[in-house]
Amino acid sequence: MNLEGKVAIVTGGANGIGRAISLALSEHGAKVVVNYNSSENLAVSLQDEIKELGNECLIVQANIGSLEQCNSLVEAAISHFGHVDILVNNAGITKDNLIMRMTEDDFDQVIETNLKGAWNMSKLVSRYMTKQRSGKIVNITSVSGLVGNAGQTNYSASKAGLVGLTMSLAKELAKRNINVNAIAPGFIETAMTGKLPEEVVSKYLENIPLSRLGEVKDIASTVLFLVSDYSKYITGQVIRVDGGLVMG
Ligand code: NAP
Repeated sequence: MNLEGKVAIVTGGANGIGRAISLALSEHGAKVVVNYNSSENLAVSLQDEIKELGNECLIVQANIGSLEQCNSLVEAAISHFGHVDILVNNAGITKDNLIMRMTEDDFDQVIETNLKGAWNMSKLVSRYMTKQRSGKIVNITSVSGLVGNAGQTNYSASKAGLVGLTMSLAKELAKRNINVNAIAPGFIETAMTGKLPEEVVSKYLENIPLSRLGEVKDIASTVLFLVSDYSKYITGQVIRVDGGLVMG
C-alpha cells in the first residue's frame, strides 16, 4: 500500500489506538498531522519516532470539541503541507456511570468530544477535500454505539451519533469522490479499557468468539484498508473490528 504524497490528520493521534494509526499511516508513506490534547510528551516522542523512520510529522495541540481550535489545527496542516487527503476522527473519551449518577457535565463533555469533535473536523476538512475532489474520512465509533452498554448512555449516544454522521456525510460527499466510513472497535487493549475492573474484562472475553482482546494494530490495519484504493467502492459503512463480539 502506497500513501506517498498523502497528508493525513489523526485526532488524538499521540496515544492508544490513535498512535498506532499515526504510525501505520506514516509507515506507508503518508505525512501525518498528529493532534493531541493533553499528551504533549507522547506527541513529541511520536514525532521523533516518525522522523527517525524518515517521514514527515507535524504535531498540533487542539481540543477538538472547539470549532475554533479545530480550525487552527486544519489551517496548521494546510499551511505546513498544502493539502489534506485523509482525516481520522479517532479522539474520544469515556465518562461512564449509571444514568442516575451521571452528571449533565459527564454527558455534555462526552458528546462534545466524541460527536461534535468529529463534526467540527469533518466540516473543516470537507472544504479542502471537496475542492480537490478526493478524500477519505474514517470515524472511530464503537460497538457500544451499535448495541448499547449499561453505564454508557453518554458514550453510546455519542458513538451512535457518529454512525449517523458517517452515513449522512458519505451521501453528501460521494459525488466529490470522498469516502466516509466508520470503524467500530470492540474491546481493544488501551488506557481507556485499562481502567475497567478485571471481572468486567473476563466477562467480555467470554463473549468474544476469537477469544482475545483486540490490539491497537487491529484497528490501524483497518484504517489503512479504508484510506487505500482497495476500498474505493466502500462508503457510508461501519466495519466492526471486535473479534466477532457483535454479529448480524
Ligand atoms: P485513549 O488511549 O484513552 O486515547 C484517547 C485519545 O483521545 C487520546 O489521544 C486523547 O488525547 C484524545 N482526546 C481526548 N479528548 C480530546 C480532545 N478534547 N481533543 C483532542 N484529543 C482528545 O483511548 P483509545 O482506546 O485509544 O480510544 C481511541 C478511540 O477509539 C476513541 O474514540 C474510543 O472511543 C474508540 N474506541 C476504543 C475502544 C477500546 O476498546 N479501547 C473501543 C471502542 C472504541 P490526549 O491524550 O492528548 O489528551
